[in-house]
Amino acid sequence: MSSSGRRIVVVGDSIAGCTAARELRARGHDGPLTMIGADADGCYARPPLSKHVLKGEAAEAETWDLSDLDITTIADRAASVDTETHTVATAAGTDVPYDSLIVATGAAARRIALPGQTGETVLRTFDDVRALRPKLDAARTAIVVGAGFLGMEVTSACVARGIAVTVVDVDPPLKRLLGTYLSDAIAARAEAASVQFLRAESPVSLAGNPVTGIEVAGRTLDADLVVTCAGDVPETEWLDGTGIADARGVAIDERCATALPDVFAAGDVAYSRSGSGRAPFWSNAVAQGKVAAASALGLEPTCAPTDDYFWTEIPGLSIKVVGPLPLQGEPTVLEGSVDDGSALLQWNHEDGRTTIVAYGMKKAVGLLRRLARDNAIPTT
Ligand SMILES: Cc1cc2nc3c(=O)[nH]c(=O)nc-3n(C[C@H](O)[C@H](O)[C@H](O)COP(=O)(O)OP(=O)(O)OC[C@H]3O[C@@H](n4cnc5c(N)ncnc54)[C@H](O)[C@@H]3O)c2cc1C
Repeated sequence: MSSSGRRIVVVGDSIAGCTAARELRARGHDGPLTMIGADADGCYARPPLSKHVLKGEAAEAETWDLSDLDITTIADRAASVDTETHTVATAAGTDVPYDSLIVATGAAARRIALPGQTGETVLRTFDDVRALRPKLDAARTAIVVGAGFLGMEVTSACVARGIAVTVVDVDPPLKRLLGTYLSDAIAARAEAASVQFLRAESPVSLAGNPVTGIEVAGRTLDADLVVTCAGDVPETEWLDGTGIADARGVAIDERCATALPDVFAAGDVAYSRSGSGRAPFWSNAVAQGKVAAASALGLEPTCAPTDDYFWTEIPGLSIKVVGPLPLQGEPTVLEGSVDDGSALLQWNHEDGRTTIVAYGMKKAVGLLRRLARDNAIPTT
């Protein structure tokens, strides 16, 4: 059935929004399609920002060209939405009517500075990277707050530049996602590259105004550079009062439908209503962008709304993961050795599903997906 007359508006022009737009056209939507995006740098990929772009191996962000899609683009921030009149209002005062709305506004870096405290450095956008690179060039010492995947990638960039870096967190590195076994291996590897880890009893705060260090356990630690990598916060302010979002983000079902008919959501802004929560990773944003687009057209999605492939970097090596997280206990070593920094590992979960990890070992994602599927233990 043709969707010629339907006005579809996508808010957010990063990977979830751009994937949704491409899928809308691919699935036959030949009617009006408008995309509203707040980032002056337009559409670009975030994962390289904290890897080669931060290290200086690539000067620019990877951008996408959507000019073949016949989209009306509005470079502005969506400020509010009126769900009665089906209109999105932008900060500059443009009213954009919709028949179907796709919410893809992602997340912003979580900040820990106190009100009025200036100089906090975070990493979420290309603009953040442009600001961070010269600081890295000038720094001899750094503190990274947060030992999650982003914190460890910033740490890798510090190590690559010879900066003495201390990583502070209440948990060991990547433990919340990858479990104790890999966390121990990652800590050992980072320590061998002169990274220091500081375990905090409670969340740390920033010291100085502008920021010059951190306060931890009653003492102040200073460094040339402090980078906060303390998670992210769904961008939902513009949805206030609509009932579409709550404190966790926008709840979606298997079809990326929200609490309101004709409003769908995808990517980091969304969390699964079924209980699995928010999984703010690239492959999920792609999968949900496709599902939200199909649902907005009333069509069957061609994929599931989750895709549990995730990758990251730690000092000196990359890690690819296919399968459910978090990981617990010890893996079966399929190839290589973790101590040597090159291993293929398998975890079997209680529900029969399998997670495959390529730890510093070059393996195609397709192969990891096959292994995760074929090595799963069927449950009756
Ligand atoms: C530095 C970095 C490295 C990462 N590395 C990895 C990795 O290695 N592997 C991995 O799996 N994942 C990685 N991720 C996570 C991954 O990039 C995200 O899951 C993905 O970008 C989510 O896409 P999204 O489109 O949902 O949201 P976002 O990428 O957050 O984009 C949302 C867009 O909406 C716009 N927007 C927000 N509010 C409004 C508004 N009110 N009006 C209009 N526009 C608005 C924003 O400007 C932004 O462009 C990384 C993230 C970061 C920040």
